[in-house]
Amino acid sequence: MEKEIQQKIEECLNCKNKPCSVNGCPVHTDIPGFIQKMKQGDLEGAYDLLQDNNPLSSICCRVCYQEEQCQGSCVRGIKGKPVSIGMLEKEVNDWATQNRKEIIHQTKKEGKIAVIGSGPAGLTVAHELNKEGFGVTVFEKEKELGGILRYGIPDFRLPKNLIDEITQRLKKAGVVFKTNIEFGKEITIEKLRQEGYDDIFLGIGAGKPSTYDLGEEEVYTSDIFLKKYYEKENICLSKQVMIIGGGNVAMDCARTAKKMGAKRVCILYRRDRENMPANNSEVEDCLKEEIEIVFLTKVIAFSGKEITCVKTRLEEGKVKEVENSEYTLPADIIVLAIGLTPDSQLIETMGLHTKEGLITVDENGMTEKDGIFAGGDLTEKKSTVVRAVASGKKAARGMINRRKNSG
Ligand code: SF4
Repeated sequence: MEKEIQQKIEECLNCKNKPCSVNGCPVHTDIPGFIQKMKQGDLEGAYDLLQDNNPLSSICCRVCYQEEQCQGSCVRGIKGKPVSIGMLEKEVNDWATQNRKEIIHQTKKEGKIAVIGSGPAGLTVAHELNKEGFGVTVFEKEKELGGILRYGIPDFRLPKNLIDEITQRLKKAGVVFKTNIEFGKEITIEKLRQEGYDDIFLGIGAGKPSTYDLGEEEVYTSDIFLKKYYEKENICLSKQVMIIGGGNVAMDCARTAKKMGAKRVCILYRRDRENMPANNSEVEDCLKEEIEIVFLTKVIAFSGKEITCVKTRLEEGKVKEVENSEYTLPADIIVLAIGLTPDSQLIETMGLHTKEGLITVDENGMTEKDGIFAGGDLTEKKSTVVRAVASGKKAARGMINRRKNSG
């Protein structure tokens, strides 16, 4: 291990009450536990501990905003700098990728469980149930696995081989994956039931844009835009790209447009910096890449050649338009990074109710329909990868308990 890593390990105080894990981590990773194993030189043990709790540890250490989660709860941070937990977790995972030989024994599986969607929630459910000896089939509408991990997070933030490593491991352990099968078309709840699947987990994510009518020509939602980048369809070369939104997805889209060779990339946000949800490090990365950020501006029209904006001000937290403040900016492409919601029509066809556009689940991750579970973006607004993992763990535990209780 490098000297810098060893120093970081030494910084951990091995706090008994583990505030980093208990308060900061949505999946309650035993942070001092894995750091202590690193201290003893037991990287294998540290990896096992991380992996056992979170099958997506190699991804979370790269995409989580640790400063708002585990590192934000580290006692070291009260008077100085917190322990670099994300860096240490990445070190363990990188070591495992290089050195560890996975020996996976397939065991006989019981039951038939369907997981719809191979995003972070779906992969977690598959991992947890497979580990407990249940037969799992994952259905994915795209031709490649990973859902938002593959198509919605650009490769400069998340190398795609990490998703392949996870899905390969699951395949070897006996999870069945079926791609190019869309829920609501090729498969439905009824069809799955007829085929003998007794429990079903819905992890189909959110794909419907919040309302923002700027026409359809050269207007892309963030998920479609990022998918085009993944599929190497360059729509930005020498174009002026305007990104609407102020969250981390908006920052990802802006940097993606830059990588595709856009002439100008501009983020337009209707609030100010203080009220912008994007993480500081993401904003800094954008500024370093000469991406412009215009605050207190709302886009009201797009002609195909330019956007019309109106200036805004904040009044008791509410956005108000400033009278006679319209102006235009040249624009070729608009990307809407303003949040996506679940497909309400599809949810209705399943006979499930929604609350504020989300499926409601109980403490076991189960919907109002017996044996139908849900998680990730379907059940939580502004979910993150690690929160989706947490919801997948909850649903898997719910399914396992239900089976144990029934017999
Ligand atoms: S709070 Fe910080 S110092 Fe304490 S155990 Fe967690 S990482 Fe270590």
